[in-house]
Amino acid sequence: MSLSEEIKQEVDKRRTFAIIAHPDAGKTTLTEKLLLFGGAIRLAGSVKARKANRHATSDWMEIEKQRGISVTSSVMQFDYAGHRVNILDTPGHQDFSEDTYRTLTAADSAVMLIDVAKGVEAQTIKLFQVCRQRGIPIFTFINKLDREGKGPFDLMEELEQVLGIRSVPMNWPIGSGRELCGVYDRMKGQVELFQGKDHTTIEVKKVEDYNDPIIREMAGDYLTDQLISDLELLDVAGDPFDYEKVRAGELTPIFFGSAVNNFGVQTFLDNFLQLAPKPGAKVSESGPVDPTTDKFSGYVFKIQANMNPAHRDRIAFLRICSGRFERGMSVKHVRNGKTIKLSQPQQFLAQDRDIVDVAYPGDIIGLFDPGIFRIGDSLSQGKDIVYNELPTFSPEIFAKVSIKNALKQKQYQKGIDQLTEEGTIQVFYSASFNDTILGVVGQLQFEVFQYRMQAEYGVDVQLHPMTFQFARWIVDDNIDPSKFRINSTLVKDKKDNYVALFENEYAMRTAMEKNPTTKFLEVAP
Ligand code: GDP
Repeated sequence: MSLSEEIKQEVDKRRTFAIIAHPDAGKTTLTEKLLLFGGAIRLAGSVKARKANRHATSDWMEIEKQRGISVTSSVMQFDYAGHRVNILDTPGHQDFSEDTYRTLTAADSAVMLIDVAKGVEAQTIKLFQVCRQRGIPIFTFINKLDREGKGPFDLMEELEQVLGIRSVPMNWPIGSGRELCGVYDRMKGQVELFQGKDHTTIEVKKVEDYNDPIIREMAGDYLTDQLISDLELLDVAGDPFDYEKVRAGELTPIFFGSAVNNFGVQTFLDNFLQLAPKPGAKVSESGPVDPTTDKFSGYVFKIQANMNPAHRDRIAFLRICSGRFERGMSVKHVRNGKTIKLSQPQQFLAQDRDIVDVAYPGDIIGLFDPGIFRIGDSLSQGKDIVYNELPTFSPEIFAKVSIKNALKQKQYQKGIDQLTEEGTIQVFYSASFNDTILGVVGQLQFEVFQYRMQAEYGVDVQLHPMTFQFARWIVDDNIDPSKFRINSTLVKDKKDNYVALFENEYAMRTAMEKNPTTKFLEVAP
């Protein structure tokens, strides 16, 4: 087999996705179940271990521990039904940060997990919006169906109202909460019945359609009547399944199930793997790059610092975009023009770091980083390729930073410059007061910043929280800074772009209305 045929085969098999959810929706549980289908039982424990650590107080040792553990489960890989599946972990809770968003750029699709009782929640909205901007397909799993919750039609309505996405149910619950007795699979034309206190699947039967008498025998009259009237309504008023729209992220297929009871998980996985895209062409400065070309390329989307305090080593996470990776290969570090040897690549399975010998587009590898990588760096073999998959995301939490000991000014500046370049924090400068303002999307980023300033640069910094909630990059050829004084604070980012900071949505809307020709961008231009 030629190299390009081999790469094509491997790309066809791969599905790389992230699960997006609000904390407690059941992401850990679902991940665990998915891994079990792949036979990767050993992993289940490690996913749990991470969870157990979540509520720990966040002094540095704890951050370290949390981060250390989250690293081991940053990427989970398993084989199932002829596919090689990569699940990317998207940190939530206290470790929600810009990394969470960046990780989504490395995924080819997303699974949006929703608690049937709670519906669409805050963190889901944020993560959804990032997926939306990237135009990746989004699959929805409505979880905890064994509990009382919102009705399926109400949830579809909520997806449309809150997220602005139409949905198409792939299956439909028969009964709900304690009365739940199964689902009707609209695609396969079958009924999956389950019973008992743990609701596990006990029977699967093929049916002609939803009027098939088999359903009545299995579910009884009352629930069957309800099911038929729901499905009739869906046939008339619901969106038809449209593959192109799913691929474009405009229509989300919905699956109903219960992760903890392992109900509906396998059908979800089967359907998902059929519908989810394989790794596609990634955008570079010189145009899209075909993943099946035989030249290796990829980009760094996350850097994990200080995993091992004794060695201060870092791991740079690289998403492979094209070609074949081989351990020990030499590639060009495009930003600095140097050729480097990739000799210590790691994959992150369970508590062990396995050494990877070969990997293909869609896979994520961890590279030992002696301090040479920055977030967004591209590596390539053959001609230079620069990927621009990584936008700068709009921060949501802000603080003014100051130094405790003025004599350390030089070290302080160096630290800020380097940590900004690494993507630990974003920095802004106010024009009028000479203030340095830091922006992050998760509180943990501040803690990491403070710790690293102390540990690596010997500088104690103070952070003074600010009340801004939104940042928008201002694009306007004839900007009049005075216009932004009333509703916002105008600052500059490190590339000298104007950024307006707002305390609330109302102030932001007002500024937008008053400046109709100005562009307010959510990501840096
Ligand atoms: P995460 O924060 O999203 O990772 O959520 P977890 O997977 O830790 O789940 C949060 C809680 O919901 C745990 O107590 C789970 O046992 C529970 N849970 C998860 N899936 C289900 C489900 O299908 N039904 C019910 N009743 N509880 C569930």
